[in-house]
Amino acid sequence: MTEEEPNECGVEVVLTAEAIRQLSANPNGVWDWSEDDSAACELEAGHTGQHSSHGQSGWHDYSSFWILWSDGSPAVVELLPPCDSDLGDDPDDPVEEELCILPEGHEGQHTGGSTWWRGRS
Ligand SMILES: [Zn+2]
Ligand SMILES: [Zn+2]
Repeated sequence: MTEEEPNECGVEVVLTAEAIRQLSANPNGVWDWSEDDSAACELEAGHTGQHSSHGQSGWHDYSSFWILWSDGSPAVVELLPPCDSDLGDDPDDPVEEELCILPEGHEGQHTGGSTWWRGRS
């Protein structure tokens, strides 16, 4: 990937054993949490509210578990519906359309993972 990284918050949190257990509980989970115990916030830098990191998704459904935390507080894991705001044509790839990958009601700007979309709602 040669795309410029979005300006992410990037604050990290060390997960509790309970959070790891929840992230590992989905038998169809895409990500293996057995060797990892920290997460980094994926919201826009300077956002308000809780930090958020995509923790787990299933292969066969579109449920997404998000890791949520506030500075100085332990992270919790929640199943959240997607934002799904249509970001329109990807400026880097006019053929593709992208949907926002963040959870519904997230703080900061929408993102398709590689670019921030300003002024959309
Ligand atoms: Zn954050
Ligand atoms: Zn969004």
